[in-house]
Amino acid sequence: MKVPSQFASPLYLDYAASTPPDEEVVDSMLPWMREMHANPHSGHLHGQRAAAALQDAAATIADLIGADASEIVFTSGATEANNLALRGWLAGHPAQLAVSSIDHKSILEVARGLGRQGVHVTELKADHNGHVIVGYEALRNDAIERNLISVCHVNNELGTIQRIESLAERLDNTWRLHVDASQSAGKIPIDVGRANIALLSLSSHKMYGPAGIGALFVDANIRKQMSPLLLGGGQQDGLRPGTVPVFLAVGFATAVRLAQARMEQDAATLEVAAEKFLQRLRELDISSEIIGDPTYRLPGHLSIRIRGIDADDLLNTVSPRISVSAGAACESGELLVSHALRGIGLNERAAAEVIRISLGRGVTVEQAVAAAEALADGVNQVNTR
Ligand code: PMP
Repeated sequence: MKVPSQFASPLYLDYAASTPPDEEVVDSMLPWMREMHANPHSGHLHGQRAAAALQDAAATIADLIGADASEIVFTSGATEANNLALRGWLAGHPAQLAVSSIDHKSILEVARGLGRQGVHVTELKADHNGHVIVGYEALRNDAIERNLISVCHVNNELGTIQRIESLAERLDNTWRLHVDASQSAGKIPIDVGRANIALLSLSSHKMYGPAGIGALFVDANIRKQMSPLLLGGGQQDGLRPGTVPVFLAVGFATAVRLAQARMEQDAATLEVAAEKFLQRLRELDISSEIIGDPTYRLPGHLSIRIRGIDADDLLNTVSPRISVSAGAACESGELLVSHALRGIGLNERAAAEVIRISLGRGVTVEQAVAAAEALADGVNQVNTR
């Protein structure tokens, strides 16, 4: 495909939206699209080889989160994993679900749907830094058959890291915990055993793997009690039927291996790049405020508010030089403000001034500095209009 010239080469700084697959990831996938291609559920040798690759991928992904390969269910991404976690565990049972008002839509919309089907749903509030406020007393209810609390480890818009382990410690044992680790896995450590996690969602394209695949970790103790969303040929023990795309699973696993090897180094580099970015903005007299937790946040994730500057306007102005995202978007003349920004108490105007710059692996300090300069130029242009 020929790329239209207006999309020439701005610097990509939207890693929270999606991370480009590493070269090694792409290379690992190619044989499985060529000579090794087969249906992993077929009994012949090609099929057996593909099944072994799938098994190996499941083991690698499980290792990242301290789980067993048998506890990994491949899905199309985290949206499906979140749906399977909540609906697969709760639908059709007397149940209670607690989510947070700043969760991803693939949690909130499912929660609302379950609410309409009779599940008792509580939407927990978040504080100004994006930490979920759990009213533990209100949650205790032994009479209900299944209780689930769903927490997002790193909020995609705010970058705030949720303190999962201390939250889990305070839950009584009638509650099970689901964690949406789409933004955190492979970037900061997470261990299902340490935090007593029953269900955990992963997305490959947020961790330098291919898009179109994700996984749900399902604790072995509850697997038999989960219901599938889809019915079909019985693959993955019937919990997620459908042919698993081996090339995507292999690419996902390669991304996991790279993440494990580079996690600390990547985090350290990104922290420096983010700091240099902010420093350059200050030098250029652009004052910005960090949105979300100022310190306990995902390395490289910068959600900032620049007062008086409409983020959508700024985004369009800087788009030839950098690709970033805004906290609110104007669609058909209507301002759509992010529910997460609203959820931490920002009003419409404040939310409309929030811009998200998410740096990732491969962004150099020089590029981060250049991005700050592009942003400062953009702010000056918007100001002089
Ligand atoms: N949860 C969170 C926190 C996310 O950031 C995203 C992607 N924006 C998703 C779920 C959905 O992931 P996927 O694109 O893999 O469906």
